[in-house]
Amino acid sequence: MPNSIKRRGLMLVLSSPSGAGKSTLARMLLTNKEELELALSISVTTRPRRPSEIEGVHYHFISPREFERLRDSDALIEWAEVHGNFYGTPREAAENALADGQDMLFDIDWQGALQLQEKMKGDVVSIFILPPSMADLKQRLHRRAEDSEDVINVRLDNARNEIERWRSYDYVIVNKDLDRAFHEVQSIVTAERLRRDRCPGLFDFVSSLLDEKLN
Ligand code: 5GP
Repeated sequence: MPNSIKRRGLMLVLSSPSGAGKSTLARMLLTNKEELELALSISVTTRPRRPSEIEGVHYHFISPREFERLRDSDALIEWAEVHGNFYGTPREAAENALADGQDMLFDIDWQGALQLQEKMKGDVVSIFILPPSMADLKQRLHRRAEDSEDVINVRLDNARNEIERWRSYDYVIVNKDLDRAFHEVQSIVTAERLRRDRCPGLFDFVSSLLDEKLN
């Protein structure tokens, strides 16, 4: 598709239970900037910052009071309580980017995915990442070791509930091999960008094609 054909940005929603490799995949998608040109929607959260996280890069870390203020002033497109903390997607940054034709990546849970699907309908492409096994999931949570044992146990308990939500997603990927999973997400993005109904600019392009004078 020529770059000159205008289209609205799409909202690529990635969800999975903690430890299924979603964050790694998201990082790969974002660092492969030249090809994919995805921007990350940076959520607000009331969760304490992990040592490896940077304010404004991974999240905006805010107080419960500030979260309530944003939520009540409709500044969040969606929000949810996950593992005892609040998370939400700032509305303005996402809406501006989409109107500008910028595709955005949303690393959010199933509750947020449902809200976006309801509110933003045709803009949303949702992908659910599954682990190859529960044993693998547990191992990955331990390897990450940034959370306490208690937190890991809460997340494992929640994983089963989260996995049950797989049906509400457009696509499901089993992350057994990271490179393969990455390639699969990339293929989905490429195909979704080419959808006729995402490219209103195609009308003009096809008209000019048909009007083109040949020697
Ligand atoms: P973590 O605390 O591990 O960064 O994230 C926990 C869960 O919250 C993950 O499943 C993540 O995708 C989800 N999450 C992060 N930001 C948001 C958000 O803005 N909205 C919703 N609904 N979920 C989020």
